[in-house]
Amino acid sequence: MNEALFDQSERTLETIRRRQETAWQNPRWLPFDLVRGLCDLVVSEQDIADAEARLSRFAPFLRRAFPETRPENGLIESPLVEIEAMRQALEQAGSGPIPGRLFLKKDSHLAIAGSVKARGGIYEVLQHAEELALAGGMLAPGESYEKFDTDPMRAFLGRYTVQVGSTGNLGLSIGIMSAALGFRVIVHMSADAKQWKKDLLRSKGVEVIEYAQDYSKAVEEGRRQSQADPASYFVDDEKSVPLFLGYAVAAGRLAGQLAQQGVTVDEQHPLLVYIPAGVGGAPGGVTYGLKRLYGDHVHCFFVEPVECPSVLLGTATQRFEKANVRDYGLTGKTEADGLACASPSSFVTRIMTNLLSGAFTVRDSRLYDYLRLLYGTQGEQIEPSSCAAFQGPAALCRAEETRDYCARHGLTETVLANAVHIVWATGGSLVPEDIRAEYLARVLPADQ
Ligand SMILES: *Cc1c(COP(=O)(O)O)cnc(C)c1O
Repeated sequence: MNEALFDQSERTLETIRRRQETAWQNPRWLPFDLVRGLCDLVVSEQDIADAEARLSRFAPFLRRAFPETRPENGLIESPLVEIEAMRQALEQAGSGPIPGRLFLKKDSHLAIAGSVKARGGIYEVLQHAEELALAGGMLAPGESYEKFDTDPMRAFLGRYTVQVGSTGNLGLSIGIMSAALGFRVIVHMSADAKQWKKDLLRSKGVEVIEYAQDYSKAVEEGRRQSQADPASYFVDDEKSVPLFLGYAVAAGRLAGQLAQQGVTVDEQHPLLVYIPAGVGGAPGGVTYGLKRLYGDHVHCFFVEPVECPSVLLGTATQRFEKANVRDYGLTGKTEADGLACASPSSFVTRIMTNLLSGAFTVRDSRLYDYLRLLYGTQGEQIEPSSCAAFQGPAALCRAEETRDYCARHGLTETVLANAVHIVWATGGSLVPEDIRAEYLARVLPADQ
């Protein structure tokens, strides 16, 4: 046990209490070979392969029901693009140096749901539909899944309900997919959810229940109501393994894209990945998949709002789902609606304990600064929550804690010059035009 790292972690928690932007180096990080065996017991290679295979089986259905998936042959996958102009602009705007190349993983533009939730959320709904159809004799193994795009199947699935608690995007992905399959679907939305997300869901025939309280309450109520109905299935973002698997599948696909673009990942060519975290499921699943593929050559960092760093707290304090940002005097309130989860996932904070490299917190005002900078340099617009990820490359070589991380992990100046940084853009393509304009014009006081 490295005392110095634990002391450093304690100091980071102090800056979190003071509502300052901070960087955290995970003192419990371990070389992947030491944790692989334990990880396998929770989520194995086979589990991820099964998830990939299930998504392939559903591709014929997706191609039919969602024409926008046809270019990818029914797979829901996003582009990986280099954003050199943004890299330079960040440095000019006063970030730390960003040595190496900077890429954007555009899950913001995933088909169907326009966010990273199109991975996990849709996967879990498909898995549930498959299970019901097979058990109900509506589908024989080996039969084409185009059958899910037929009226008899929709009538069959219409006898069942799917429910979920959400800050917005998970509800969109679960709602849109469940409705397309014929399920009755109820989305329990927290107070943070944006109006346009609720309107969009209602337009698709989804029942939206609104809560004046936060995300934990929406999940709790959804879980309770679902349990009372034997025909109802609850997608439990606070501990779901299927969601996690859907996210983990991203890793193999990303590896294919990196190879295609001639990017090598090894000791001399590290991969650094920055992902915004809400409850932890999406960044956790992606990180887990990447660690399995690249081991110690990939370094994964989460980014959370200054007022809502629940995954950081749950992992750093090892209080897991019992951690709550309010215990640190924080409000949990943030413009980053997708990240407004005051307590993190039980399962993800545990599995990330030895895998996560570290985390950053970011002020809300910066989300809009990054949003504008990205739009100005690359012509891309993503949603504010998703802009949090830029704090990673911006602060990596500026913050003392992550500079120390680099020093301890062989990320010298020479090695970092060969690095590839990936900013995971987690949402944005469904944002309506008028709200995009509002985001571009929104400037918060710098201390907010
Ligand atoms: C949900 C979401 C995240 C974080 O995912 P979690 O699984 O909640 O950690 C990040 N960005 C956006 C835009 C999201 O919708």
